[in-house]
Amino acid sequence: MAKRILILGALGQIGTDLVETLRAKHGSEQVLATDIRHPETSAGPFELVNAAKEEEIRKAVEAFQPDEVYHLVATLSATAERNPLPSWNLNMNALFYVLELAREGKIGKVFWPSSIAAFGPNSPKDPCLQTTVMDPSTVYGISKLSGELWCRYYHEKYGVDVRSIRYPGLISWKAQPGGGTTDYAVDIFHQALDKGAYTSYINAGTRLPMMYMPDAIEATIQLMEAPSEEVPIRTSYNISAFSFDPVELAEAIRLHKPDFKLHIDPDYRDAIAQGWPASIDDSEARAHWGLNPRFDLHGMVADMFENLRRLRA
Ligand code: NAD
Repeated sequence: MAKRILILGALGQIGTDLVETLRAKHGSEQVLATDIRHPETSAGPFELVNAAKEEEIRKAVEAFQPDEVYHLVATLSATAERNPLPSWNLNMNALFYVLELAREGKIGKVFWPSSIAAFGPNSPKDPCLQTTVMDPSTVYGISKLSGELWCRYYHEKYGVDVRSIRYPGLISWKAQPGGGTTDYAVDIFHQALDKGAYTSYINAGTRLPMMYMPDAIEATIQLMEAPSEEVPIRTSYNISAFSFDPVELAEAIRLHKPDFKLHIDPDYRDAIAQGWPASIDDSEARAHWGLNPRFDLHGMVADMFENLRRLRA
Protein backbone atom coordinates (compact mmCIF):
# COMPACT_ATOMS: atom_id res chain seq x y z
CA MET A 1 0.00 0.00 0.00
CA ALA A 2 1.25 3.51 -0.81
CA LYS A 3 2.53 5.28 2.26
CA ARG A 4 0.70 8.18 3.86
CA ILE A 5 2.67 11.26 4.87
CA LEU A 6 1.64 14.16 7.11
CA ILE A 7 3.58 17.44 7.10
CA LEU A 8 3.38 19.94 9.98
CA GLY A 9 4.43 23.50 9.02
CA ALA A 10 4.00 22.64 5.33
CA LEU A 11 3.75 26.20 3.98
CA GLY A 12 7.23 27.34 5.07
CA GLN A 13 10.48 27.53 3.14
CA ILE A 14 11.26 23.80 3.40
CA GLY A 15 7.67 22.52 3.41
CA THR A 16 6.83 24.24 0.12
CA ASP A 17 9.52 22.29 -1.74
CA LEU A 18 9.17 19.10 0.31
CA VAL A 19 5.41 18.73 -0.18
CA GLU A 20 5.77 19.21 -3.95
CA THR A 21 8.51 16.56 -4.16
CA LEU A 22 6.70 14.03 -1.94
CA ARG A 23 3.44 14.48 -3.88
CA ALA A 24 5.25 13.94 -7.20
CA LYS A 25 6.74 10.75 -5.76
CA HIS A 26 3.80 9.23 -3.84
CA GLY A 27 0.69 10.91 -5.30
CA SER A 28 -1.06 14.09 -4.10
CA GLU A 29 -3.69 12.34 -1.98
CA GLN A 30 -1.02 10.49 0.02
CA VAL A 31 0.49 13.71 1.38
CA LEU A 32 -1.52 15.81 3.86
CA ALA A 33 -0.10 19.32 4.18
CA THR A 34 -0.94 21.21 7.39
CA ASP A 35 -0.05 24.63 8.75
CA ILE A 36 -1.38 27.30 11.11
CA ARG A 37 -2.31 29.51 8.11
CA HIS A 38 -4.22 28.91 4.88
CA PRO A 39 -2.33 28.23 1.63
CA GLU A 40 -2.76 30.57 -1.36
CA THR A 41 -3.30 27.52 -3.55
CA SER A 42 -3.11 23.82 -2.82
CA ALA A 43 -2.36 20.94 -5.19
CA GLY A 44 -3.54 18.34 -2.67
CA PRO A 45 -5.14 17.81 0.74
CA PHE A 46 -4.61 20.60 3.27
CA GLU A 47 -5.79 21.12 6.87
CA LEU A 48 -5.27 23.82 9.46
CA VAL A 49 -3.31 22.35 12.38
CA ASN A 50 -1.82 24.45 15.17
CA ALA A 51 1.21 22.45 16.32
CA ALA A 52 1.17 24.29 19.66
CA LYS A 53 -2.00 22.33 20.48
CA GLU A 54 -1.57 18.65 21.28
CA GLU A 55 -5.22 17.90 20.52
CA GLU A 56 -4.98 19.36 17.02
CA ILE A 57 -1.92 17.26 16.08
CA ARG A 58 -3.51 14.17 17.67
CA LYS A 59 -6.78 14.68 15.76
CA ALA A 60 -4.97 15.06 12.42
CA VAL A 61 -2.76 12.00 13.09
CA GLU A 62 -5.66 9.79 14.26
CA ALA A 63 -7.80 10.76 11.26
CA PHE A 64 -5.12 10.54 8.53
CA GLN A 65 -3.13 7.64 10.08
CA PRO A 66 0.20 8.63 8.54
CA ASP A 67 3.11 6.24 8.12
CA GLU A 68 5.45 9.22 8.30
CA VAL A 69 5.31 12.69 9.86
CA TYR A 70 7.65 15.50 8.83
CA HIS A 71 7.51 17.99 11.69
CA LEU A 72 8.76 21.34 10.30
CA VAL A 73 7.17 23.79 12.75
CA ALA A 74 9.59 26.04 14.65
CA THR A 75 10.24 29.64 15.51
CA LEU A 76 13.53 30.28 13.71
CA SER A 77 16.76 31.74 15.11
CA ALA A 78 16.40 35.50 14.55
CA THR A 79 12.70 35.61 15.53
CA ALA A 80 13.26 33.41 18.61
CA GLU A 81 15.91 35.80 20.01
CA ARG A 82 13.24 38.50 20.14
CA ASN A 83 10.66 36.21 21.74
CA PRO A 84 12.51 33.60 23.85
CA LEU A 85 9.98 31.76 26.03
CA PRO A 86 7.10 31.43 23.54
CA SER A 87 9.66 30.22 20.96
CA TRP A 88 11.10 27.65 23.38
CA ASN A 89 7.60 26.43 24.24
CA LEU A 90 6.58 25.99 20.61
CA ASN A 91 9.88 24.40 19.52
CA MET A 92 9.93 21.87 22.37
CA ASN A 93 6.25 21.13 23.01
CA ALA A 94 5.32 20.42 19.40
CA LEU A 95 8.22 17.96 19.19
CA PHE A 96 7.03 16.15 22.35
CA TYR A 97 3.47 15.90 20.97
CA VAL A 98 4.80 14.20 17.84
CA LEU A 99 7.26 11.91 19.68
CA GLU A 100 4.52 10.82 22.10
CA LEU A 101 2.18 9.92 19.22
CA ALA A 102 5.01 7.90 17.68
CA ARG A 103 5.61 6.17 21.04
CA GLU A 104 1.92 5.24 21.10
CA GLY A 105 2.45 3.58 17.70
CA LYS A 106 0.31 6.11 15.79
CA ILE A 107 3.19 7.28 13.56
CA GLY A 108 5.66 4.87 11.95
CA LYS A 109 8.53 7.25 11.27
CA VAL A 110 9.26 10.87 12.24
CA PHE A 111 11.45 13.48 10.56
CA TRP A 112 12.43 16.46 12.69
CA PRO A 113 15.03 19.01 11.58
CA SER A 114 17.84 20.32 13.73
CA SER A 115 20.21 23.07 12.60
CA ILE A 116 23.83 24.25 12.61
CA ALA A 117 22.50 26.56 15.35
CA ALA A 118 22.81 23.58 17.74
CA PHE A 119 26.56 24.33 17.69
CA GLY A 120 28.05 27.24 19.64
CA PRO A 121 31.09 29.44 20.17
CA ASN A 122 33.23 26.57 21.51
CA SER A 123 32.36 24.13 18.72
CA PRO A 124 35.13 23.71 16.13
CA LYS A 125 34.60 26.29 13.37
CA ASP A 126 36.17 25.03 10.19
CA PRO A 127 35.14 22.30 9.79
CA CYS A 128 32.68 21.47 12.57
CA LEU A 129 32.59 17.75 13.32
CA GLN A 130 29.56 15.48 13.73
CA THR A 131 30.36 14.66 17.35
CA THR A 132 31.94 17.53 19.23
CA VAL A 133 31.40 20.32 21.78
CA MET A 134 27.92 21.80 21.44
CA ASP A 135 27.21 24.94 23.50
CA PRO A 136 24.54 26.90 21.61
CA SER A 137 24.01 30.45 22.81
CA THR A 138 20.64 31.21 21.19
CA VAL A 139 17.15 30.15 22.29
CA TYR A 140 16.69 28.48 18.94
CA GLY A 141 20.02 26.62 19.19
CA ILE A 142 19.29 25.45 22.73
CA SER A 143 15.91 24.12 21.56
CA LYS A 144 17.58 22.29 18.64
CA LEU A 145 20.26 20.65 20.80
CA SER A 146 17.67 19.65 23.41
CA GLY A 147 15.39 18.31 20.66
CA GLU A 148 18.22 16.21 19.24
CA LEU A 149 18.83 14.59 22.63
CA TRP A 150 15.12 13.91 23.14
CA CYS A 151 14.93 12.30 19.68
CA ARG A 152 17.74 9.93 20.63
CA TYR A 153 16.07 9.26 23.99
CA TYR A 154 12.75 8.30 22.36
CA HIS A 155 14.62 6.10 19.89
CA GLU A 156 16.68 4.30 22.54
CA LYS A 157 14.01 3.99 25.26
CA TYR A 158 10.87 3.48 23.21
CA GLY A 159 12.12 2.37 19.78
CA VAL A 160 10.66 5.43 18.04
CA ASP A 161 12.02 5.66 14.48
CA VAL A 162 12.93 9.35 14.47
CA ARG A 163 15.48 10.76 12.04
CA SER A 164 17.04 14.19 11.84
CA ILE A 165 19.35 16.47 9.87
CA ARG A 166 21.22 19.55 11.07
CA TYR A 167 20.35 21.78 8.14
CA PRO A 168 22.79 24.52 7.20
CA GLY A 169 21.35 27.76 5.73
CA LEU A 170 18.97 26.76 2.94
CA ILE A 171 18.60 28.74 -0.29
CA SER A 172 15.49 28.45 -2.43
CA TRP A 173 13.41 30.39 -4.95
CA LYS A 174 9.96 28.84 -4.39
CA ALA A 175 9.26 30.24 -0.90
CA GLN A 176 10.55 33.07 1.25
CA PRO A 177 12.54 32.13 4.36
CA GLY A 178 10.85 32.49 7.75
CA GLY A 179 13.00 34.53 10.16
CA GLY A 180 16.36 32.75 10.26
CA THR A 181 19.88 34.18 10.44
CA THR A 182 20.74 32.92 6.93
CA ASP A 183 17.69 34.55 5.25
CA TYR A 184 20.05 37.14 3.71
CA ALA A 185 21.31 34.51 1.27
CA VAL A 186 17.82 34.36 -0.27
CA ASP A 187 16.84 38.06 0.05
CA ILE A 188 20.02 39.11 -1.76
CA PHE A 189 18.79 37.48 -5.01
CA HIS A 190 15.39 39.20 -4.90
CA GLN A 191 16.95 42.59 -4.21
CA ALA A 192 19.67 42.06 -6.83
CA LEU A 193 16.88 41.70 -9.40
CA ASP A 194 14.60 44.43 -7.94
CA LYS A 195 17.15 47.11 -7.02
CA GLY A 196 20.58 45.99 -8.24
CA ALA A 197 21.87 46.36 -4.67
CA TYR A 198 21.65 44.71 -1.25
CA THR A 199 22.59 45.77 2.27
CA SER A 200 23.77 42.73 4.22
CA TYR A 201 23.19 42.39 7.96
CA ILE A 202 25.88 39.68 7.95
CA ASN A 203 29.42 41.05 8.01
CA ALA A 204 32.15 40.54 5.42
CA GLY A 205 34.18 37.55 6.56
CA THR A 206 31.31 35.80 8.39
CA ARG A 207 31.22 32.54 6.44
CA LEU A 208 28.36 30.12 6.99
CA PRO A 209 27.63 26.62 5.68
CA MET A 210 24.83 26.54 3.10
CA MET A 211 22.92 24.22 0.79
CA TYR A 212 20.59 24.66 -2.20
CA MET A 213 17.05 23.50 -1.44
CA PRO A 214 16.82 20.69 -4.06
CA ASP A 215 19.83 19.03 -2.42
CA ALA A 216 18.34 19.50 1.08
CA ILE A 217 15.05 17.91 -0.01
CA GLU A 218 16.85 15.01 -1.66
CA ALA A 219 18.98 14.46 1.47
CA THR A 220 15.88 14.51 3.67
CA ILE A 221 14.06 11.90 1.59
CA GLN A 222 17.24 9.78 1.29
CA LEU A 223 17.57 9.75 5.08
CA MET A 224 13.89 8.83 5.54
CA GLU A 225 14.11 6.01 2.98
CA ALA A 226 17.36 4.52 4.34
CA PRO A 227 17.06 1.16 6.11
CA SER A 228 17.09 1.66 9.88
CA GLU A 229 20.53 0.07 10.31
CA GLU A 230 22.03 2.71 7.97
CA VAL A 231 20.90 5.44 10.39
CA PRO A 232 22.97 4.79 13.53
CA ILE A 233 23.00 8.46 14.55
CA ARG A 234 19.69 9.31 16.23
CA THR A 235 20.54 12.78 17.46
CA SER A 236 20.95 14.51 14.07
CA TYR A 237 23.23 14.35 11.00
CA ASN A 238 25.62 17.10 9.89
CA ILE A 239 25.07 17.99 6.23
CA SER A 240 26.40 20.79 4.04
CA ALA A 241 27.32 21.64 0.46
CA PHE A 242 29.39 24.86 0.44
CA SER A 243 30.23 27.94 2.53
CA PHE A 244 30.42 31.65 1.74
CA ASP A 245 30.35 35.14 3.26
CA PRO A 246 28.33 37.99 1.70
CA VAL A 247 31.34 39.21 -0.32
CA GLU A 248 31.93 35.80 -1.92
CA LEU A 249 28.19 35.48 -2.66
CA ALA A 250 28.14 38.97 -4.22
CA GLU A 251 31.08 38.03 -6.48
CA ALA A 252 29.19 34.96 -7.68
CA ILE A 253 26.06 37.10 -8.24
CA ARG A 254 28.05 39.60 -10.37
CA LEU A 255 28.70 36.85 -12.93
CA HIS A 256 24.94 37.10 -13.66
CA LYS A 257 24.35 40.75 -12.70
CA PRO A 258 27.63 42.64 -13.29
CA ASP A 259 26.42 45.99 -11.86
CA PHE A 260 25.27 44.44 -8.53
CA LYS A 261 26.33 46.46 -5.47
CA LEU A 262 26.79 45.02 -1.96
CA HIS A 263 26.67 47.20 1.17
CA ILE A 264 27.45 45.82 4.60
CA ASP A 265 25.62 46.94 7.75
CA PRO A 266 25.86 44.15 10.37
CA ASP A 267 23.20 43.81 13.10
CA TYR A 268 22.46 41.33 15.92
CA ARG A 269 22.10 38.52 13.38
CA ASP A 270 25.81 38.74 12.57
CA ALA A 271 26.52 38.11 16.26
CA ILE A 272 24.31 34.99 16.09
CA ALA A 273 26.17 33.81 12.97
CA GLN A 274 29.56 34.39 14.65
CA GLY A 275 28.66 31.67 17.15
CA TRP A 276 28.04 29.12 14.39
CA PRO A 277 30.50 27.02 12.36
CA ALA A 278 31.92 28.30 9.07
CA SER A 279 31.94 24.84 7.51
CA ILE A 280 30.62 21.38 8.31
CA ASP A 281 32.17 17.92 8.22
CA ASP A 282 29.36 15.73 6.91
CA SER A 283 31.35 12.54 6.28
CA GLU A 284 29.01 10.40 8.46
CA ALA A 285 25.94 11.37 6.39
CA ARG A 286 27.85 10.57 3.20
CA ALA A 287 29.08 7.23 4.54
CA HIS A 288 25.90 6.06 6.32
CA TRP A 289 23.09 6.90 3.89
CA GLY A 290 24.74 8.41 0.82
CA LEU A 291 24.45 12.20 1.14
CA ASN A 292 25.68 13.61 -2.19
CA PRO A 293 24.69 17.23 -2.92
CA ARG A 294 24.86 18.25 -6.60
CA PHE A 295 24.95 22.06 -6.39
CA ASP A 296 28.07 24.08 -5.57
CA LEU A 297 28.00 27.86 -4.99
CA HIS A 298 28.12 28.78 -8.69
CA GLY A 299 25.62 26.09 -9.71
CA MET A 300 23.21 27.34 -7.03
CA VAL A 301 23.56 31.01 -8.07
CA ALA A 302 23.00 30.18 -11.76
CA ASP A 303 19.89 28.12 -10.97
CA MET A 304 18.48 30.81 -8.63
CA PHE A 305 18.80 33.49 -11.34
CA GLU A 306 17.35 31.23 -14.02
CA ASN A 307 14.25 30.46 -11.94
CA LEU A 308 13.71 33.94 -10.45
CA ARG A 309 14.08 35.58 -13.90
CA ARG A 310 11.62 33.04 -15.37
CA LEU A 311 9.08 33.82 -12.61
CA ARG A 312 9.40 37.58 -13.25
CA ALA A 313 9.23 37.35 -17.07
P1 NAD B 1 9.52 28.48 8.04
O1 NAD B 1 9.46 29.49 9.13
O2 NAD B 1 9.72 28.95 6.63
O3 NAD B 1 8.20 27.58 8.07
C1 NAD B 1 7.59 27.17 9.26
C2 NAD B 1 6.11 26.97 8.98
O4 NAD B 1 5.49 26.63 10.22
C3 NAD B 1 5.41 28.24 8.47
O5 NAD B 1 4.66 27.94 7.30
C4 NAD B 1 4.51 28.66 9.61
O6 NAD B 1 3.26 29.21 9.18
C5 NAD B 1 4.26 27.33 10.31
N1 NAD B 1 3.93 27.50 11.72
C6 NAD B 1 4.38 28.40 12.61
N2 NAD B 1 3.80 28.21 13.81
C7 NAD B 1 2.98 27.15 13.66
C8 NAD B 1 2.11 26.44 14.55
N3 NAD B 1 1.97 26.82 15.84
N4 NAD B 1 1.43 25.39 14.06
C9 NAD B 1 1.53 25.01 12.76
N5 NAD B 1 2.33 25.64 11.88
C10 NAD B 1 3.05 26.69 12.33
O7 NAD B 1 10.64 27.42 8.44
P2 NAD B 1 11.52 26.50 7.46
O8 NAD B 1 12.67 27.30 7.01
O9 NAD B 1 10.65 25.82 6.49
O10 NAD B 1 12.09 25.47 8.54
C11 NAD B 1 11.44 24.25 8.85
C12 NAD B 1 12.25 23.53 9.90
O11 NAD B 1 13.60 23.38 9.45
C13 NAD B 1 12.34 24.25 11.24
O12 NAD B 1 12.36 23.30 12.28
C14 NAD B 1 13.68 24.94 11.18
O13 NAD B 1 14.20 25.13 12.46
C15 NAD B 1 14.50 23.94 10.38
N6 NAD B 1 15.65 24.58 9.72
C16 NAD B 1 15.49 25.42 8.65
C17 NAD B 1 16.60 25.99 8.05
C18 NAD B 1 16.48 26.93 6.87
O14 NAD B 1 17.49 27.47 6.39
N7 NAD B 1 15.30 27.13 6.31
C19 NAD B 1 17.89 25.71 8.53
C20 NAD B 1 18.01 24.88 9.65
C21 NAD B 1 16.89 24.28 10.20
